[in-house]
Amino acid sequence: MDMKQLAEDVIAGNRRALARAITLVESGRDDHRAQAIELMDMIGKSGRQALRIGLSGTPGVGKSTFIESFGMMLIKEGLKVAVLAVDPSSSRSGGSILGDKTRMELLSREKNAFIRPSPAKSELGGVARRTREAVGLCEAAGYDLILIETVGVGQSETVVSEMSDLFLLLLAPAGGDELQGVKRGIMEMADLILVNKADGDLKSAAQRTCADYAGALRLIRKRPQDPKDFPKAMTVSAIEDRGLREAWEEMNTLTDWRRVHGFFDKRRSEQAEYWFGQDIRHGLLSQLEKEPLKSMIAELAHQVAQGEITPGHAAADVLKALQQG
Ligand code: GDP
Repeated sequence: MDMKQLAEDVIAGNRRALARAITLVESGRDDHRAQAIELMDMIGKSGRQALRIGLSGTPGVGKSTFIESFGMMLIKEGLKVAVLAVDPSSSRSGGSILGDKTRMELLSREKNAFIRPSPAKSELGGVARRTREAVGLCEAAGYDLILIETVGVGQSETVVSEMSDLFLLLLAPAGGDELQGVKRGIMEMADLILVNKADGDLKSAAQRTCADYAGALRLIRKRPQDPKDFPKAMTVSAIEDRGLREAWEEMNTLTDWRRVHGFFDKRRSEQAEYWFGQDIRHGLLSQLEKEPLKSMIAELAHQVAQGEITPGHAAADVLKALQQG
C-alpha cells in the first residue's frame, strides 16, 4: 500500500480512504504498525484541527440518541461530524454496542457524517491507542467535530479524556436523591454533565438530578483550565431535541476561553506526551508476549511455581534478556 497516496486521499476527504486508513491503524500486525506510523507522520502535516469531544454514559442513558440529535444539529449548521468509540467491554458477543450505525440511522445517512464502531476486541490500552490515531485521521480528513463515545465503567473514561478537548458525562434522571453512584474521579473529568431525558414524566426528576450534580460539582476542586461557572450541569432531551443548542453554546464558550488562555494547546501537548508514554509501555509489554521472551517467561514461571527460583530472581533474568534485545 502506498502511504503517501493514502495520506493524500484521506486529506482530500475520501471516505473510503479514511476507512481504510483506520483499518490500518487498528491492525495488530507489525508490518501494518510500521506503515501506520509512516501514515500518521504524513497526516500530521495537514494542519487541521477538529474539536474532539469525549462522551461517556452507562448503557441506556441515551448516548446514541444524543449523538444522533446533536450530530444532526451540527450537520445542519454545515459542520462535518465523525463518531468513534472506545468499547472497554472485555467480552462482547455479536455486533458492536458503541458507535453502531444502526443506532444512529439519520446521522449514518449523512454525507458529512462518519461513524466508526469500536475496533475489534483487544485490551483497552490497545483499543484506545488505535482510536487516538483514528481521531487524528478524522481530523486530517476535515471533520470539524469528533465525538468519541465510551461507556461508564471507569478506566475507559480516562483514556477517552486523554484524547478529547472536552469531556461530557451523560446521565439519566435519578429515582431517589442519591448521586447515582457516579465515581468522583469521573465527575472530576467532566466539563459538562448533561442529564438526559428531561422530558415528559421524567422532566422534574431530571431537573432535581441536575441540581444535585450542580451542587456536587461546586464541591469539586477548581481546575485552572476552567472559567467561572465550569464545570456545569444541564438538562437535555435527546429525543425532543431540547437543550442541545444550549449545551453546544456552553461547549463553545468553554473551548474559546481555553484557547484564549492557552489551556487548549497545553492540554493537547500533555496528551501527546501521555500517548508517547503509553506507546512505549505498550511496546514493552508486547515484547513479553513475543518469542524468545514468551517461552523464557513460561519456563521461568514453571520454575518459580516449583520453588526452584525466587520470583525476584526470575523477573530480573527476564528484564536482563529484554535489555539485551
Ligand atoms: P445508550 O445505550 O446510552 O446509547 O442509550 P440509547 O440512546 O440507546 O437510549 C436508551 C433508551 O433511552 C432508548 O429507549 C431511548 O429511546 C431512550 N432515550 C434516549 N434519549 C431519551 C430522551 O431524551 N428522553 C427519553 N424520554 N428517552 C430517551
